[in-house]
Amino acid sequence: MRRVVLLGGGYVSLHAYGAIARRLRGELRRGEVEIVVISADTVHNFHGFTGEVVAGLLPIDLAQTPLAEAMPRARVVHARVTDVSLDDRRVTYGDGSVLTYDALVVGTGAREPVDGLGDASTLRSPGDLRALVGSGSEGPVVVIGGGLAGVELAAAFVRRGAPVTLVHSGDRVVPALRAGQPRLADRCERELDRLGVVVRTGVRAVDVSADGVLLSDGARLDARVVLATTGQRAVPLPGLDDLPRDEVGRLITAPDLQVSPDVWSAGDAARVLHPRSGEPVTANALWAIKAGDQIGRNVVRALRGRSGGRFRYLGLGQAASFGVGHGIADLYGLPITGWAAWLMRIGFFVRFMPSRSRAVRVPGALVSSARLRAPQKVSATVPG
Ligand SMILES: Cc1cc2nc3c(=O)[nH]c(=O)nc-3n(C[C@H](O)[C@H](O)[C@H](O)COP(=O)(O)OP(=O)(O)OC[C@H]3O[C@@H](n4cnc5c(N)ncnc54)[C@H](O)[C@@H]3O)c2cc1C
Repeated sequence: MRRVVLLGGGYVSLHAYGAIARRLRGELRRGEVEIVVISADTVHNFHGFTGEVVAGLLPIDLAQTPLAEAMPRARVVHARVTDVSLDDRRVTYGDGSVLTYDALVVGTGAREPVDGLGDASTLRSPGDLRALVGSGSEGPVVVIGGGLAGVELAAAFVRRGAPVTLVHSGDRVVPALRAGQPRLADRCERELDRLGVVVRTGVRAVDVSADGVLLSDGARLDARVVLATTGQRAVPLPGLDDLPRDEVGRLITAPDLQVSPDVWSAGDAARVLHPRSGEPVTANALWAIKAGDQIGRNVVRALRGRSGGRFRYLGLGQAASFGVGHGIADLYGLPITGWAAWLMRIGFFVRFMPSRSRAVRVPGALVSSARLRAPQKVSATVPG
């Protein structure tokens, strides 16, 4: 029996699983191949819908799919991986249990570095999001980081009725989007203004405590919720420390996404180069999905004694939502705004959701919650 071990229950593992399960149906049924998923979380978190969940537009259960349901032909182990031994091909997890592998996929993702921002939430883990949604009480929200995720989440919190301040160290929000799509970046700024989000640029958050945020200019912002979307670092995995990594801890991948013999990685855990530009691809779900799929194909080829194929996906674009009917999208370099962008983004997400039964409920849930709650303008003042 050959064993494929997938570390993490995110996009990379899910799509590697899909590619393997489609190609090795017979082998899996006959017990000649086993797929084991070891994940610190029991559900797959569809991060793309974080804003909709925060805004109360979608119930959280539509954005979180139990791993056993998403990967029915795999053995799912709920545990944290504590060590990988490349020499012995062994993974240690949980209370010291050990599994050997024939093929290993590292899809353990990344975490926001919240050094000095200890009380800030990141909404990355499924538990963080559930705790926020369940907490109920409203109050001022501070979002730290003015990238696309930060502006989208700031807009989502407005919908919860919260006064929101967005803190961004640069002079304009969404700098990465601005570099290629200045019109869309301007539109993001106008959307934040429309929603009443207070934007503080050119300052850093230097301390986060139970009652608020201290900024580098000495201002103190009251906050019930502080959210950090300040870049990310790959989750470190003991045993893989000697493999080549980039400056944010991502494993350096070969063109076939291998990081070591019979070990592959992608998504937020890895530096994957764009096949045409040679630049690292963006850390987002689309790239994790497509690279996960390629890894799955390459794992099957390796099990059949063949060499792997290169990662050839060229990309599609990016999108963000500012409430129902308000979106921006960059589709193959074409800037799109308003309803068209919003509908395109929802359609794309629904297409890639891990659970068909959840995906079909998304449009209805969005329509009914949009009818129930019209967006409201919130006025907010900047304390200090
Ligand atoms: C709030 C938020 C909103 C986002 N919105 C968007 C968006 O709108 N569009 C978009 O394209 N991208 C979005 N992203 C980015 C996108 O979610 C990531 O790029 C994508 O999740 C990366 O996939 P992954 O498989 O590498 O990692 P993840 O999906 O993060 O999965 C990592 C998995 O590894 C597990 N894990 C971690 N450490 C261990 C360990 N030691 N042992 C076992 N398991 C472990 C975790 O439990 C998790 O299951 C968002 C991210 C966040 C945080």
